[in-house]
Amino acid sequence: MSITDYSTPRFDWTSAEIQALFDLPFMDLLFKAQSVHRENFKPNQVQVSTLLSIKTGACPEDCKYCPQSGHYNTELEKEKLMEVQKVLEEAKAAKDKGATRFCMGAAWKHPSKKDFPYVLEMVKGVKNLGLESCVTLGTLTDDQAKELSGAGLDYYNHNLDTSPEYYDSIISTRSYQERLDTLSRVRDSGIKLCCGGIMGMGEEQKDRVGLLRQLSLMTPHPESVPINMLVKVAGTPLENVDDLDEFDFIRTIAVARIIMPTSHVRLSAGRQSMSEQTQALCFMAGANSIFYGEKLLTTDNPEADQDRMLFKKLGINPEQREEHSDEAVVEAIESQARQQAESKMFYDASA
Ligand code: SF4
Repeated sequence: MSITDYSTPRFDWTSAEIQALFDLPFMDLLFKAQSVHRENFKPNQVQVSTLLSIKTGACPEDCKYCPQSGHYNTELEKEKLMEVQKVLEEAKAAKDKGATRFCMGAAWKHPSKKDFPYVLEMVKGVKNLGLESCVTLGTLTDDQAKELSGAGLDYYNHNLDTSPEYYDSIISTRSYQERLDTLSRVRDSGIKLCCGGIMGMGEEQKDRVGLLRQLSLMTPHPESVPINMLVKVAGTPLENVDDLDEFDFIRTIAVARIIMPTSHVRLSAGRQSMSEQTQALCFMAGANSIFYGEKLLTTDNPEADQDRMLFKKLGINPEQREEHSDEAVVEAIESQARQQAESKMFYDASA
C-alpha cells in the first residue's frame, strides 16, 4: 500500500489492518507515520495545551489508574470546585506561557446542578481570553452538552481508556457504552472530541489495537487523540504494574497517526519519565500536541521551560494562537469577575 492510501480518513479499519501496522518494522512504521503526518500537518508545529484540575479528588468512579478515585488511598489532598476567578487567572498564566488551549478537569461522575453553572462561567471566561477551551467532567446529559456548546466550549475530553475487552479490568463503575453515549451527545451538540486512552495498564497489544480501532470508527475521528503512558501512583491498584516498553508506546502513537491522519495526536501523561530522545521519537511518529505545565491534573509533567528547550533543540514551534492585547486579557478577567459578583454565582471553594 502506498503512503497516499493512508492520507484520507477512513472509518472502517479492521483489527487485522491495525495489527498489521503494529507488526511493521519499527523504522517502516515511523517513516509511514511521519509521511502521513506531513501530508496533513505542518511538520514542525506542535499544539500546546495546559491542563488544570478545577475539582480534585474524592471521585466516586474506581478507575484503577487514578489517584483521584475515592476508592483508593493516595494521600491526595481533596479540593472543592475552584473559584471561577482563580481558574481564569491560571488560564491567563497558561496563555502567557504559550498555551493555546486551556483544559479544565473535574473529578466527578457527572457535573451536579449546583456546580455546573460555574463551569459554564469558566468556559466563557477562557474563551474571552482568546484561548480554546476544553473540559472533562465525566458523564453528560443532552442538556449539559448543549449548554456547554452554548457557552462556547471547543473540546470535551472523555477517554475510552482501553479496548472494550480490557475495560472491565480497569473500571467497574462506568460502562464503556456510557462513555460512548456521552461522546455522541458531545458530538451532537457541536463540540469537538478529545478522546484517547492510557497505555501501560497491563493491557496486551491486542487491546491497544482494540482501543485505536474504536477511536477510528468514530465519524469523524476525534479531533484530539491523547495517548497517555500510565503514571503509576502509590495507593492505586496499578502502582506495581509492569512497565510498557517505550517502543510499544511510540508504535501506538504512530499507528494512531496513520489511521486518524487529520486528528491531533497528543503525547499526554507520562512525559515526565520519558527521555528527550523518546519524546522526539513520539513527535517523529506523528504526535503533534502536548500538555505544557508542571501538573497534569494531579501528576507531574515536565516544566514549560524544559519543553521550550526541547522544542528549540528539535526546531519545533508551538502552533500559533489568536493574539489579544494584555489590556484585553485584563479586561476579560475583570469583566468576568464583575459578572460573577452581580449574578451571585461566585463559588467559595473554602466553604
Ligand atoms: S479518571 Fe476521572 S472518572 Fe476515573 S476516578 Fe479519576 S477523576 Fe474519576
